[in-house]
Amino acid sequence: MIKLVKGFHDILPEEMPKWSFIRETARQTLERFGFREIVPPIMERTELFARGIGEVTDIVEKEMYTFEDRGGESLSLRPEATAGILRAVAEHSLLRKDSLLKVYAIGPMFRRERPSKGRFRQFFQVDAEVLGDDSPFTDAEIIAAAHAIVSEIGATDLIMEVNSVGCRNCREGYRALLREFLEPYLGELCGDCQRRYHTNPLRILDCKVPRCAEISLDAPIITDSLDESCREHFRGVQTALEQLDIPYRLEPRMVRGLDYYTRTAFEVVHGELGRTKAVGGGGRYDNLLGELGGPDVSGIGFAIGLERLAMGLPDDDPRFARSVDAYVAILGERAQSEGFRLVNTLRRAGFSVESRYSGTSLKAQMKVADKVSARRVIMIGDDELARKELTVRDMNTKQQATVGMGDIVTYLLNLQDGPLCGR
Ligand code: AMP
Repeated sequence: MIKLVKGFHDILPEEMPKWSFIRETARQTLERFGFREIVPPIMERTELFARGIGEVTDIVEKEMYTFEDRGGESLSLRPEATAGILRAVAEHSLLRKDSLLKVYAIGPMFRRERPSKGRFRQFFQVDAEVLGDDSPFTDAEIIAAAHAIVSEIGATDLIMEVNSVGCRNCREGYRALLREFLEPYLGELCGDCQRRYHTNPLRILDCKVPRCAEISLDAPIITDSLDESCREHFRGVQTALEQLDIPYRLEPRMVRGLDYYTRTAFEVVHGELGRTKAVGGGGRYDNLLGELGGPDVSGIGFAIGLERLAMGLPDDDPRFARSVDAYVAILGERAQSEGFRLVNTLRRAGFSVESRYSGTSLKAQMKVADKVSARRVIMIGDDELARKELTVRDMNTKQQATVGMGDIVTYLLNLQDGPLCGR
């Protein structure tokens, strides 16, 4: 048997109701916040990610699925959605018609990370971006949208961690301070962080190696290095979050993994799984769209991991229980053809219907009806054929009714609880 690629996973039919619920809730929430869907491809030119995410990030240096296609071009599976979305915005001049653009995308991302619980090499994200506005209200609104998604999905024990990583100027000064602080510890840092010390010392604050994390605890914090306009922006974001009653916590050591963030950065953190397994994260990027060939406007976005959300939800939540309008129990050889016709008549009338054509006993078929949570069982056997009637059993009340074969659609349509499907 040929097995799954390591770090990839199947989503099986029984898991789909939960997945659809998560995806649809995210979609509806974002539409309510004024976002429109965009579907960029899962593969782009490698240089887009190198430029958009940053050459010296873990993602670009170590985690991309990069290959040369038959034409000799270097392509990569997308490790995140923002770069591709911004490429599409620039390429199709989407900001020419509107000065503000709010878009979202849902789909798989690919990173060759070390797989563990909640960490995959293919994982799904819902990603939202606002382009063309740098008001602190927009930062608060996008944090509110991320919060609305996770709370409507019903994930509990979540908090928004918020920080400002300043603009390029603030970070220049902060980088110098950080290097100065870290220099005496240089020999104690892990190999990666020794390299980061030279290339991008902020990333050391993100390192999960215990000694690096311990050293970082006493490091100067970036919010002390913000210039006046970044400071004011960050104060504005916090005031707006308070206005909206969004639960948040300031986290001055959160710098996020990607290079392009400016000013506001945030993460949606799960109490149980901790920061290493955040549910989502995002931030503002003031220079990215311009760098990718679009207009030089500010943007802010976030990505939420769907696997992490799914992990926090019980499988038997009644909100994603599956049920069908009717199970047609076909009893005996002679009823087969009429039963087959009935199933399909009901489906054409808009009902969801299950049946088995293999001729098992009523008892076995009632078990199937239970398993698919059928609201009604419609029985058709020799007696029913002779009388041209059907027996309809309500699976909740256990009451039975006899309905003329020609009247079944009208009967079901007129029931007080109505059909589940299509109306
Ligand atoms: P990032 O794009 O790294 O900011 O990640 C945003 C969110 O995507 C995280 O908070 C996770 O929920 C999810 N995520 C990132 N990487 C993975 C992964 N390897 N496996 C599963 N989910 C992930």
